[in-house]
Amino acid sequence: MNKRDLKKFAALPPAKHFASKSGRFLYHLDEALRRIADGSYGKCVTCGQDISVARLEAVPHARLCIACKEKEEQDKVRANNDH
Ligand SMILES: [Zn+2]
Repeated sequence: MNKRDLKKFAALPPAKHFASKSGRFLYHLDEALRRIADGSYGKCVTCGQDISVARLEAVPHARLCIACKEKEEQDKVRANNDH
């Protein structure tokens, strides 16, 4: 998603953002919109690297780059196996 599209997206009335009413999705989207507003959108919250455009197109509310996301998934699996 390029900057112009993001601006268009952010300018839409809230109801038009959503195909889904999932609260979790809304939470992430709200957070993404806040990050668009403060200029940190598109950066990984863990390592600070730019998140790839392909990833943002697939997951517009992504907070983590692919590498950190994979690490997070692995940590989750490991945590579950500890029980
Ligand atoms: Zn990262």
